[in-house]
Amino acid sequence: MPIGRLPIENGGLRIVDGRIVEIGEWNSLTADFGDVVVDLGEVVLLPGLINSHCHLEYSGWSGNKFPRKSFPEWAKAVIAFKKTRNDDQYTDSVSIGIQMLLKTGVTSVADTVSCGQLISDYYSQCPLNVFGFLEMTHVLDRKSPELVIDEALCLGQSGDHWLEDFGLSPHALYSTSSELIRLSAKTSIESALRLSVHISESPEEYSMFRHSRGEMFDWLASIGRDMSDCGFETPVGLLDKSGALTDQTMVVHANYLEDTDIQRISDAKAHVVHCPQSWHFFGYQNFSHEKLTAKEINVCLGTDSTASMDLSDGEPSGLNMFAEMNCFCRHHPEVSPEEILRMTTMNGAKALGREGQIGELSTGAHADLIVIPYQGRSDSVGEFLIHHSGRVGASMIRGEWVIPPDNQTAISNK
Ligand SMILES: [Zn+2]
Repeated sequence: MPIGRLPIENGGLRIVDGRIVEIGEWNSLTADFGDVVVDLGEVVLLPGLINSHCHLEYSGWSGNKFPRKSFPEWAKAVIAFKKTRNDDQYTDSVSIGIQMLLKTGVTSVADTVSCGQLISDYYSQCPLNVFGFLEMTHVLDRKSPELVIDEALCLGQSGDHWLEDFGLSPHALYSTSSELIRLSAKTSIESALRLSVHISESPEEYSMFRHSRGEMFDWLASIGRDMSDCGFETPVGLLDKSGALTDQTMVVHANYLEDTDIQRISDAKAHVVHCPQSWHFFGYQNFSHEKLTAKEINVCLGTDSTASMDLSDGEPSGLNMFAEMNCFCRHHPEVSPEEILRMTTMNGAKALGREGQIGELSTGAHADLIVIPYQGRSDSVGEFLIHHSGRVGASMIRGEWVIPPDNQTAISNK
């Protein structure tokens, strides 16, 4: 299942130095003396999934710990819980999250991280491709926005080099200052860095910026946030006016949009990341997938964190992109399985600026692929995949098995 082209019956790949160099029917591929041939049996082989928005450091936190009657109530409880956690607990959560993702077929993740040390200490040892977005907040901070950005950029540099997959995440408009958003936008353009921002997630956020009222407005005003940016624009409008809505921006959530917002996102060629299970957890209004795609906006999927997920059978459903596809499919039955699969593969790659490198099985792409036992017809494989429970039979990242196949037959070519 290459994505971007039709499934190939009896398909195969040739991999050299971690990249795909050939794809087609298995008996049409060339082989050199000494190549190792692996027959995976009756399976579907597809690109590793891309989780376009996650907070690994909260993995294992169950949504049932936190109230959900409103987003501000939930946020206050999460902030209070964060203060009780130490560095070791954060590191444990990241490990739990990585295992959840690997087991369920994710090979690349866009992770928003507030603990900057994790970027340098942990990501480099992680088997996943991790795109680290450093989370920045700026509400009552005594630091200048310039210092917040400078500190973030220091973490993005390893010696004299930029970390390859580093981006900035001014957390949200309500949790930062307009000056920090403007500086983030300027830095993103000057240094060619991706931006990931939570925007228009809740009705309370929308009401705060659009109408200067509501629960979130009252809460943030009461703790001393400068509310002079409220009452004029929608969150998307404000992001646009700050210069932060560009083709390098990943607009996370975008649940509450006016038609003019959709036009602005389209004009900017920004990317929207929808998190179906988190959206469902809060019971938000319908996500405007049809309107967004009618304006040719790139929409991809993410898990967000387990702190905004329902429990099932006493256990968190966990970080599982198959569960996200399944949830999206239930609420958008008009969208084809093939399109839903693109949202977790090629569309995520486009949002991360990695088109042709990840999210597809094609010549030149990284050999990031997953294997799921399957004995059905190739024309129903899409339907099968979006209803799959999650656990994969095998997973390869950059040509190395991170979950080896069980029953492989390996034959040295003569
Ligand atoms: Zn998030």
